[in-house]
Amino acid sequence: MTNNRKYPLWAKIILGMFLGIIWGLVAVKTGMEDFTENWVKPWGTIFIKLLKLIAVPLIFVSLVKGITSVTDISKLGRIGIKTIGLYVFTTVVAVVIGLIFVNVFKPGNSFSQESRNKFQQQYQQNIAEKEALAEGVKSGSPLFFFEEMVPDNIMKAAGDNSKMLQIIFFSILFAVAMITLKVKQIEVVKSLFDGLNDIILKIVDIVMMFAPVGVFALLSALIAEFSGDSDLFVALGKYAALTFFGILFMILTVYPIYLKLFTKVKIRKFYNAIFPAQMVAFSTSSSAATLPVTLKQCKEKLKISKSVANFVLPVGVTINMDATAFYQVISAVFIAQVFGLDLTISQQLAIVLTTTLASIGAPGVPGGAIIMLVIVLSSAGIPAEGLALIMGIERPLDMMRTAANITGDATVASIVASSENEIGSEEPE
Ligand code: ASP
Repeated sequence: MTNNRKYPLWAKIILGMFLGIIWGLVAVKTGMEDFTENWVKPWGTIFIKLLKLIAVPLIFVSLVKGITSVTDISKLGRIGIKTIGLYVFTTVVAVVIGLIFVNVFKPGNSFSQESRNKFQQQYQQNIAEKEALAEGVKSGSPLFFFEEMVPDNIMKAAGDNSKMLQIIFFSILFAVAMITLKVKQIEVVKSLFDGLNDIILKIVDIVMMFAPVGVFALLSALIAEFSGDSDLFVALGKYAALTFFGILFMILTVYPIYLKLFTKVKIRKFYNAIFPAQMVAFSTSSSAATLPVTLKQCKEKLKISKSVANFVLPVGVTINMDATAFYQVISAVFIAQVFGLDLTISQQLAIVLTTTLASIGAPGVPGGAIIMLVIVLSSAGIPAEGLALIMGIERPLDMMRTAANITGDATVASIVASSENEIGSEEPE
């Protein structure tokens, strides 16, 4: 037991990945594919089911909590609207950059047609689902997408993982209704949601404890199904490099552009100030856990006023995850490419919307993106089993994402503070 504690979860996941690869290769060599399919793969399926299981409650609770944490929106007025507007804007920009990257570099296309055919046979059902979805988009009115977003029955929507946008729609409606009511009227419901949020995050923790076994099972089954095809590894390497450098590009290019355009903050000063927070984010993989450091650095080093920092940064930790959105769009399209699913432009645009919303709903904890990715995949009809491909290299990418996420929060805080003349002069706390 004590031995177990010594190894962090991500190390166990990587171990699971390696053992899974080895098992898969051995199974191919020794003809144990059927055994793997019948006795190993189910553990992976259970893991995916657990992720899907928490998706609906998680998205509902964390969206409601995220949006209602902005209860002061009317009090803060201008600042509140600017903050939310900038957060949504920077997230959409990140998703669009991701979409361009993944379409230009096509990391999943290094797969041979033969392997792809094999994949398609394996996941016939998901593919049929996706085709049905595509059919709907094609045959419906141009407003089909919006029509589909509005549920006519919340229970039905909650019972179907591919209807995640409907859940998101309902959650936003619910939260908006909540913040328009008086604080006293919703006090109890708010604290109920706080408690529920803690419980669900705990469930996420518990499910993630099972991740090493899940990754082992899914990966060994995938390798066995693919008879040890090396295309898989080439594609995966390309995907990891694309995501890694893409996030680095955001940190080193996109945010400096925002700062240059909208503030007088010196880029060098900005990065010197937030470097410690980036390091904490990188090592904890949790933007929520990093919040105290981000706050301190922004107030003390960037001299952002307390009133702006104390509002903008905590809200950012809950709803602004540019790199998470960027990662989700790349991962979703990558998995679709590997499975040989051609996504039309309108489907890709639907993914833009889902990932933007999913990143708003994603919790700022390690692996927060993964659960939301399940949602993005389900709503786009892409097989969630594709997660097995990327789970093994998820942790280093999560570390990068988190560092970028808090950089985005600090950038928006600087922009808002600059526009309010609340930066550079106030005494630190
Ligand atoms: N770990 C990330 C964060 O806390 C969320 C994610 O992308 O998984 O910001």
